Amino acid sequence: AVPVALVAGLSRAAHFGVLIKGAKPLESLARIQTLILDKTGTLTDGRPQIVSITVTGDLSEDEVLYFAAALDQASKHPIAQAIVAATHLRGVTLPVPQDVIETPGEGVTGRIDGHKVVVGGVDFVAAQIGAGANDSALAGAGSVVVSLGIDGVLMGHIVMADALRSGTADLLASLRRLGITRILLATGDRRAVADAVTKGLGLDAVRADLTPDQKVLLVLSERKDGPVMMVGDGINDAPALAAADIGVAMGARGAAASAEAADVVLLVDQLDRLLPGIEIAQRARRIAF
Ligand code: ADP
Ligand code: MG
Repeated sequence: AVPVALVAGLSRAAHFGVLIKGAKPLESLARIQTLILDKTGTLTDGRPQIVSITVTGDLSEDEVLYFAAALDQASKHPIAQAIVAATHLRGVTLPVPQDVIETPGEGVTGRIDGHKVVVGGVDFVAAQIGAGANDSALAGAGSVVVSLGIDGVLMGHIVMADALRSGTADLLASLRRLGITRILLATGDRRAVADAVTKGLGLDAVRADLTPDQKVLLVLSERKDGPVMMVGDGINDAPALAAADIGVAMGARGAAASAEAADVVLLVDQLDRLLPGIEIAQRARRIAF
């Protein structure tokens, strides 16, 4: 039988919007030593604003945004959704893309009005159109950059600012007081962006340019030293969430796949709900055992 203290813990956590999927996850949650955080939508608020659009082909800035958004309608990535939202705000009607293929965490390819279109990270788009990554225009940019290619030509970049959630430094300090000894960032984004956004947070490690598979390998390697909690948002983190002792999905906007792979779902889009979640788990465990 599941001790009453554990059941009470599950129900108290739920009141904070922390959905813990059973007594076993509740117990592991109390013992986490290492925390691995995804960047976009986890450490950042995942509602990025467009800062600028750089044109590198025959299209205007508005057209770069139009094609990028049209294709990104097919993606649940927070960056993709922000690009689509920006065109909705401008009252633009988007065509439906054909033959869409998404590479999670990297980008999307498809056809729009008969053109072969690719949208996504700088390296992904460069690889798809068979060009070297043209970083010159972006050098030093600590912002998220989305590139657009059409019919094998690089058409431009959308530069976006995705701010750190407020109170993040305090949150990490509080988590360390609860016994978490190691905190890492694991992102699919570029090194410059990862370093800029985590500056001053005192993380134990910052891992950039990771594919979803490499996030899994990181989780497994960290597990050798103690129980690992992975917090992520979006469909591309589902494998890493499943590989961790505790996978936490930012569930409010998160894709269903990552919520299914998770042991804990934050039903509200607030990373700091980790605190009551862990506190309740630790108290329940002290009482129950
Ligand atoms: P994180 O791991 O920090 O959440 P991701 O791996 O999800 O970051 O994304 C890294 C980068 O890949 C984004 O900053 C963006 O440039 C690009 N990217 C990934 N998927 C898409 C998409 N569907 N549309 C546009 N850009 C994308
Ligand atoms: Mg992500």
